[in-house]
Amino acid sequence: MSVNNEMIAAVLHGREDVRIQRMPIPQPGNGEVLVRIDTALTCGTDVKVFRRGYHAVMIRPPAVFGHEFAGTIVAIGDGVNGWNIGDRVVAANSAPCGDCYYCERSCPELCEDLLFLNGAYAEYIVIPARVVQKNLYSVPSSLRLSHAALAEPLACVVRGMDALMHVNARTAVVLGLGPIGLFFVRMLVLAGVEVIAVGRRASRLGIARELGAAITIDIDTVADPVEAVRLATPRGYGADLVVEAVGNPTAWQQAISMARKAGMVSLFGGCPADTSIELSTHRIHYDEISLTGTFHHTPAAFRMALDLLISGDVPAALFIQKQCGLIDLPGVLRSLAGGDLDIVKCAVTP
Ligand SMILES: [Zn+2]
Ligand SMILES: [Zn+2]
Repeated sequence: MSVNNEMIAAVLHGREDVRIQRMPIPQPGNGEVLVRIDTALTCGTDVKVFRRGYHAVMIRPPAVFGHEFAGTIVAIGDGVNGWNIGDRVVAANSAPCGDCYYCERSCPELCEDLLFLNGAYAEYIVIPARVVQKNLYSVPSSLRLSHAALAEPLACVVRGMDALMHVNARTAVVLGLGPIGLFFVRMLVLAGVEVIAVGRRASRLGIARELGAAITIDIDTVADPVEAVRLATPRGYGADLVVEAVGNPTAWQQAISMARKAGMVSLFGGCPADTSIELSTHRIHYDEISLTGTFHHTPAAFRMALDLLISGDVPAALFIQKQCGLIDLPGVLRSLAGGDLDIVKCAVTP
């Protein structure tokens, strides 16, 4: 095969083992389109996968990975309608089937046959027919493709917000200031809620303030994070809403302790497998605390997320601090896995 039919892609081989390899450019089949990737974004999930060497549901090595991307359609398979070569697009990393038990009950994020799409750390990616039909979106020229790629993680947060907005909230705590926590800060500010942002590192707290957080608390400078947060809430009662965006059982428990009576806690961060937390029965019964979880996103949430990026309500530039080539990806993943907190996301351009 000539070099022209080849591309480079990052292939996960195992624990902290990502290799940049040549492979044939995939060709679009029936209902599929081929996208030349403009930008792929690093994500906490990818860093976890890099550290662990696999993903229980999505990625078994050796495999191409990466799932936040945007690009341009360069080839179209048979039977595709409504798309043209040259279209700027962003695709979600999954698509629901539309007719399983959960899809029929309006929970497409829990689809029993959710089709995942990975392979964004490459020059090209084929978008499967189901994603083309249900979760492929046109990006207007006013929005940079690197910014459009934020639609996937933002869609998870848009969906997470659905559960929270039933509470008449004035004060919210966001615990954890990774990309997800920072998106929550912004979404809550847009909803008119006063946000207390809790995390570490001056750079992250600074971004939270730029996004509109009223109060920031550096968790490394306080003896008791729960007490520090409660003191920052009206009468020291705790917050109306608490969003946990860290993903470990300790943070889940802290989040529950930070809510006021009749408050709601979104336990958003995915914890390691087989972990559990202790729950005070008193808090649930006498204090009327509600706990909620959310997983993934839906096509409706993805659409809304893209619109928030197009309108500028969610300022994309604050989420991307670094740019690198595909060739540099292993090094970037290593530094993210090592705890480099000054980068929220890195834009990987093939
Ligand atoms: Zn992601
Ligand atoms: Zn389904």
